[in-house]
Amino acid sequence: MSIQTLPSVTRTDAEWRALLSPEQYRIARREGTERAFTPGNHEAEKRAGDYHCVGCGTVLWRSEDKFDSGTGWPSFVRPASQGVVATKTDFKLIYPRTEVHCAVCDSHMGHVFPDGPPPTGRRWCINGAVLDFRPRDSSSEPGFVAGADGGSAGRDRDTGEIDGGDGGGGGD
Ligand SMILES: [Zn+2]
Repeated sequence: MSIQTLPSVTRTDAEWRALLSPEQYRIARREGTERAFTPGNHEAEKRAGDYHCVGCGTVLWRSEDKFDSGTGWPSFVRPASQGVVATKTDFKLIYPRTEVHCAVCDSHMGHVFPDGPPPTGRRWCINGAVLDFRPRDSSSEPGFVAGADGGSAGRDRDTGEIDGGDGGGGGD
């Protein structure tokens, strides 16, 4: 499941329009931005899971890296893994911002700002409309099998008795 090699997904404009909703298309392919606190944009999502790119299905973000930024957009301290997203400088506003897009299909995701919380200090501010959240199966919780099979620490302490005796008296 780990992404070893990143494929490159290329689609025509018509294919993108067919694949995405108008809002998703506006954000992903035209570098649009959804309104803050848009219902359903995963801003308040608290469940464990992965956030996939709507353009290609790549896991770009994880719930473990999500934090409540209060901005109205889902925010993360880091991408799911290195290289799944790429950035470039965006001069749409008076000041430059760092634009974030999917490294696989080039869909625009949002922006990254240097005012995030520790440990990264980054705030990856992402449009929820271009994320496909898939909660992890809660029925298969990671097993905390307490008590069972604790494994008694082996006691195999070597009594290193160096028996150096027997130094013979050699006389002559
Ligand atoms: Zn993508």
